[in-house]
Amino acid sequence: MNCPICQANTKRLFEVHGYWIRGCDKCWHQCAEIVPDTSHTTKIYADEYFHGGGAGYPDYLGEARILRNHGRQYGKMLARYMQPGRMLDVGAAAGFVLQGFTDCGWTGKGIEPNPKMAAYARNELQLAVNAGALENLPADEQFDLVNMIQVIAHFADLRQALQRAVDVTKPGGYWLIETWNRESFAARLFGQNWHEYSPPSVLHWFAPDDLRQLAAQYGMHEIKRGRPSKWINGGHAKSLLQYKLASLSLGKQAGKLLNLLPEYLPLPYLADDLFWLLLQKK
Ligand SMILES: [Zn+2]
Repeated sequence: MNCPICQANTKRLFEVHGYWIRGCDKCWHQCAEIVPDTSHTTKIYADEYFHGGGAGYPDYLGEARILRNHGRQYGKMLARYMQPGRMLDVGAAAGFVLQGFTDCGWTGKGIEPNPKMAAYARNELQLAVNAGALENLPADEQFDLVNMIQVIAHFADLRQALQRAVDVTKPGGYWLIETWNRESFAARLFGQNWHEYSPPSVLHWFAPDDLRQLAAQYGMHEIKRGRPSKWINGGHAKSLLQYKLASLSLGKQAGKLLNLLPEYLPLPYLADDLFWLLLQKK
């Protein structure tokens, strides 16, 4: 397998859940040794991902307020660089993050592989979220902003997805990408037990520099990078930790303690392993 960013050789690093994680010899990008079939996205983002816990969400709809605020925070940040315009939210789920952007004056639409989530956004939030994958989105409209918040690590065909993303970006338009940083302190501390090593839903592990290098291949140039302030609710924190602890020996006792966390208590996510990159089409 060659690196999807710089085409250099990759080699096997370690195995998680029966899947090999490979690392690039040159740019250090990491990817899962999986050849996804066309139904990959539909299978991974079946309803279970949003309600089943594990590497996904125990109760996605229960995080409505937190996710809407997350969208608003980005809306405020972007106001330093551009006027609100028309946006495409890729992997919009139930539309909460998109809703936060509309609170800041943005209009636009979303695309989401899970049909139930997309239907929720349309029916409950009156947002134009269609079921489907970015790779298959008709390029009949161009946007001022394409949002890829927590989606780029999941693309089965990274190159095809980004090509479509740039096709639907206006000249001078922007991409906002949020993803996990494999070079963060938290990622290095946990090593192979880092929570983001959860193939097959996660297929790529970026760091800001290799993401910037990849985006530049599509004519997208970095304007700014930073770290989001992220909140998750108690139930989600508990579910993620229990999923990770299950593979460790101290898991059982720690799991009991975690049950004391209230489900809907918003908790600050303190680790440094998330970053965002704002890019502009030149
Ligand atoms: Zn590489």
